[in-house]
Amino acid sequence: MSTSSTIQKISVDHDQQMLSILWGDGETAEYQLDGLRRVCPCVFCRGGHENMGQKMDAQELIRKGKRNWKITAIKPIGNYALQFTWSDGHNSGLYQFIALRQLWDDYLNLLTPKDL
Ligand SMILES: [Zn+2]
Repeated sequence: MSTSSTIQKISVDHDQQMLSILWGDGETAEYQLDGLRRVCPCVFCRGGHENMGQKMDAQELIRKGKRNWKITAIKPIGNYALQFTWSDGHNSGLYQFIALRQLWDDYLNLLTPKDL
């Protein structure tokens, strides 16, 4: 299956503070690590169960990173999500493929001027 919500390849560049995902449809997405951490979908980072299920905010990828991160492990959860272990030990966020792809598409939309 090669679609926009399957992943072919993941790589992390800690010097650049970027995580890259090569999606099944050939699109390469690059996520700034601090932004990716700020959209962590776990209940703790979201600030409560009532905030679960909301979209990841692509503005966080535009905001300048303030903190340097290391991703010490990336664990696939079935074929639908990734679990990152961050350098502070936090690993409770399950980043669904579909949410990561949506985040990237939203980010690109934010970068594209709407009044062209
Ligand atoms: Zn979290």
